[in-house]
Amino acid sequence: MNQTALPELPAFLQTREKSLFIDGAWRNSQSDGRIETRNPATGEVIATLPDASKEDVDVAVAAARRAFEGEWSRFTPNDRHALIMKVLGVIEKHFEELAIIETVDMGAPLSRTRSFWNYIDRCLRFFATQTANTGGQTLPTSLPGGLMTMTLRAPVGVVGGILPWNGPLIGQLWVLAPALATGCTVVLKPAAEASLSVLRMAELMTEAGVPKGVINVVTGRGSKSGAMLAEHQDVDRIAFTGSTETGRSIIKASATNIKRLQLELGGKSPDIVFADADLDRAIPGAAMAVFANSGQVCYAGTRLFVQSSILPEFEERIANFARTLKLGNGLEPDVALGPLISDKQLASVMGYIDAGREEGARLVAGGTKPGGALEAGAFLNPTVFSSVHNDMRIAREEIFGPVVSIIPFDTEAEALKLANETPYGLGGGVWTQDIGKAMRMVQGIRAGTIWVNNYGAIDPSVGFGGVKASGYGWKGGPQHVDAFLYQKSVYIGGLH
Ligand code: NAD
Repeated sequence: MNQTALPELPAFLQTREKSLFIDGAWRNSQSDGRIETRNPATGEVIATLPDASKEDVDVAVAAARRAFEGEWSRFTPNDRHALIMKVLGVIEKHFEELAIIETVDMGAPLSRTRSFWNYIDRCLRFFATQTANTGGQTLPTSLPGGLMTMTLRAPVGVVGGILPWNGPLIGQLWVLAPALATGCTVVLKPAAEASLSVLRMAELMTEAGVPKGVINVVTGRGSKSGAMLAEHQDVDRIAFTGSTETGRSIIKASATNIKRLQLELGGKSPDIVFADADLDRAIPGAAMAVFANSGQVCYAGTRLFVQSSILPEFEERIANFARTLKLGNGLEPDVALGPLISDKQLASVMGYIDAGREEGARLVAGGTKPGGALEAGAFLNPTVFSSVHNDMRIAREEIFGPVVSIIPFDTEAEALKLANETPYGLGGGVWTQDIGKAMRMVQGIRAGTIWVNNYGAIDPSVGFGGVKASGYGWKGGPQHVDAFLYQKSVYIGGLH
């Protein structure tokens, strides 16, 4: 391959008509509805997906229920540990293929999708260790009669995983890995815009030995197949990642059978740069806190609070940094930023750029669509607004595009007050060389994850989640395993 040749497309991308993956095999939908999925870098249709019907969702949930009660329920923790490690081996063997599928399907550059290997490796190794963390306790009681008391933990059952489009290659593992660790079964409903890495992963995991019915995938529109999964009577838990608005409908739908819920929702995270920060690190760090994945990251640090004394220098340097990022088709070498997921998303982000201008924010970089070879794709130049007020729409609402709003502040107290003036609470960043100041911010910011002198580090063994309108539940960490189990308290009498 010469320097500029694009990587060869995997065979999986060469069959356009995709099927549902149910009970360990490809299965035709019982509906005729199909959805086109496009490569957002070129606008070209790359596949058509079944728009799953109620019957399809019922069949997938029934397969998951059968598997939950069948052979899978007899897997011991060691069996599940060995299986997860086998799955990891198969993913490693096929990883380049998965990275290419993700790039073509949702636009992120190969440099990014290839970097997910490291994360997947840590994620599956962590959840493999957690197979041993599924037990209960023996507890002393003060009851008369010599009862022996203990707790057991059992898998919650069938989990519906509803995924967004901004990173399904990783996002699906937040549901699959804890399910494999605990003995749950899964029906995944990926976003219609980016389902391909999820379909291929289900096939690969089955090849690795995951019993049929443990992983099922139904594709389709959220308002249809997603909603049917959320209200299904035989689904025990919903692990949802997506917008706060959809999260609200999931809460209502889950009332049908009082499902357990995990809601990983939107964000509008503050990133605070103090004048004493190491700007050589803070400027690229704060820029990529927003521009990575073309801004389509839930915890993106989109409200960038900059201490007034360094504002002119900061503004100029971050604008220059934004202009150096190479946009392009993610399959090409050296591309830093791919397109947005769709023309629809691009139009929505452009609407926010217009709103920012109209409300008096100052555009210092980007704000336009690149032309030439990128004309056909959903590309947007990374955009920096300055002189933003916390009450402007661009500072209040989740844009989900490469747009950062610089908001000046003078004092620590003011920064903290502004940072918390948001309905969201997903992430937050602080850049300073003063540890005391950093810790005061860590304690004061109401958000699930705070980064100090870095932004966006996430490890599956630590855990990630939100507060306020960013949702509840936890991805990663032992808490994630707890959430896929329920506790039984056992009282054994007649011992005396
Ligand atoms: P979305 O809410 O539109 O869709 C998410 C998923 O829900 C998709 O699969 C969609 O088909 C499905 N869906 C839509 N309507 C539904 C309904 N009524 N019932 C059931 N399912 C339904 O979100 P999106 O646009 O795909 O993704 C972007 C959003 O996801 C952003 O708000 C982002 O912040 C959020 N997100 C959050 C996290 C996190 O961990 N907190 C991570 C990634 C993305």
